[in-house]
Amino acid sequence: MKVFHIQAATPLCTNTFLLIGDQGHAVAIDPNAPAQRYLDLLREHHAHLAAVLLTHGHYDHMGSVAELRKATGASLMVSELDAAPHVDERLFPPLDQVSCYGDGDHFSVDDMDFQVIATPGHTSGSVCLLCGEYLFSGDTLFCGDIGRTDLETGSMAQMNASLRKLAAQVPDDVQVLPGHGPFSTMEQEKSRNYYLRAAMEDPK
Ligand SMILES: [Zn+2]
Repeated sequence: MKVFHIQAATPLCTNTFLLIGDQGHAVAIDPNAPAQRYLDLLREHHAHLAAVLLTHGHYDHMGSVAELRKATGASLMVSELDAAPHVDERLFPPLDQVSCYGDGDHFSVDDMDFQVIATPGHTSGSVCLLCGEYLFSGDTLFCGDIGRTDLETGSMAQMNASLRKLAAQVPDDVQVLPGHGPFSTMEQEKSRNYYLRAAMEDPK
């Protein structure tokens, strides 16, 4: 598997990723950079896009989904809760023809095995995607920080439970690739991230 980091040159600088497996099947995670950047990489590596995976349903994680799907026929996967209609359609653009994934789901594309970890808090349908040594943590866990919990369907109580779950389920040597900002590791976050530490120390 090859992992490409494609940063969207938008005000929120979303981190997006293109993963290309050994047999040339690829997935895009939270594609928000111009579609051509993914398409150029796919062509360069003789790969085809099998699926687009979203960590959650916010607009700044899906700007090129429609164009990429039109160009490649890729399927779109997102959690059921974030695919559902929302009051704030600017924040949660409506999605169609989605396949939904949920907590504990495992699926493979090429040589890439994904585990879905539901991590509500930033949105009720937020997930983190564990793939080998990488955790695509969306807007749940950042380097030294966490995502906002004050937007539609956000919940600090759910976020704390999700942080505890990540600390329990994700090995220390896993690389954390968040939706915004620098990359990290679980070990570093467990030792330095105030919110993660506080959640881990909370006896609930
Ligand atoms: Zn978000």
